[in-house]
Amino acid sequence: MATIYYENSADLALIRGKKVAVFGYGSQGHAHALNLRDSGVQVRIALELQSRSRSKAHEAGFEILVPKDAAAWGDVLVVLVPDTVQPKLYQEAIAPALSAGKTLLFAHGFNIHFKTIAPPANVDVIMIAPKSPGHRVREIFAEGGGTPGLLAVHQDASGKAKSLALSYAQGIGCTRAGVIETTFAEETETDLFGEQAVLCGGVSALIKAGFETLVEAGYQPEIAYFECMHELKLIVDLMYRGGLNFMRYSVSDTAEYGDYTGGPKVVTKETYAALRQMLADVRSGDFARQWIAENENGRPWFNQVRSREREHLIEQVGAKLRSMMPFVNPVSIRPDQTEAPPQGAAEAKDEKKAVAV
Ligand code: NAD
Ligand code: MG
Repeated sequence: MATIYYENSADLALIRGKKVAVFGYGSQGHAHALNLRDSGVQVRIALELQSRSRSKAHEAGFEILVPKDAAAWGDVLVVLVPDTVQPKLYQEAIAPALSAGKTLLFAHGFNIHFKTIAPPANVDVIMIAPKSPGHRVREIFAEGGGTPGLLAVHQDASGKAKSLALSYAQGIGCTRAGVIETTFAEETETDLFGEQAVLCGGVSALIKAGFETLVEAGYQPEIAYFECMHELKLIVDLMYRGGLNFMRYSVSDTAEYGDYTGGPKVVTKETYAALRQMLADVRSGDFARQWIAENENGRPWFNQVRSREREHLIEQVGAKLRSMMPFVNPVSIRPDQTEAPPQGAAEAKDEKKAVAV
């Protein structure tokens, strides 16, 4: 069983004794920085001069440094820029400033695990990964609670890496809810597999397949939307509170019977084989190599699929229906949009990333 740490395992004084430079002020960055500051930790933000996040960090009253200066200033360098940007930032700004005694802290293991960042042996390399989108990490902390998190130590040059990681976790509130010990490999591989197989890939494909099957058979797209997408939230909320048992207890016996008869027809032996293959590709590094190459080539395939997916009929129908349901707090993404939407920006961006990074 997992080792889980709570408040009594952590000593906030450790992180309070460090200068913490937070690189990036996006979903995770703003939450870590604000929570740490409220915990009495000395924090500065690292952003490029042209970064759009600068005004937000400035409004929040933070001192902002360019990445190179922040890397020189900080004892703990918290890397919270997008995973695809991290290797370049590391090469250009962080690596030249590293020296014995500094700590690199990540919120996801991708670059360390796949060695696109390879720190020198004289620094500590740790991970604290909150299991929640950034805006929740902030909101729950401000309400007095905490989001659960994962802890891993990749390199322990100082012999104190784990206690500093726990102290940081306390600073952002994670020890209030529980910090599970893991490794960079386990976090990275399960995270990638989960988003491909279930959370993003699996669920989106199933929603579309159900919707398309109904529409193709002549049912109204609006009805198909409600059935295959809108109602999913109601079902997931039940699972979130009480697992599959509570969901099945709450739906009708007919629905429960259909669950048992229908599920195995959709998720077959072949599906299991595909899932095992997907996991094998994650573990061998094939998936990572593909994604890194796709980025280096300017994302031709990714961009094409993204545009096509954004024009799917379920998106067109859904946007219209949601615009009449203010209670869902609707947000719409333009087909060519890459930046966060102007309205409800933080939430929309965070929700998009809740489990997908
Ligand atoms: P984000 O896209 O929300 O924010 C990125 C920030 O980095 C922005 O402030 C952007 O301006 C800044 N940035 C971009 N390029 C930069 C550069 N070259 N130099 C300095 N700053 C730069 O990112 P995020 O979702 O907060 O992800 C950060 C890390 O947290 C990733 O490792 C991710 O895997 C991890 N993580 C995210 C979530 C989540 O819910 N979003 C959850 C757990 C872990
Ligand atoms: Mg994830």
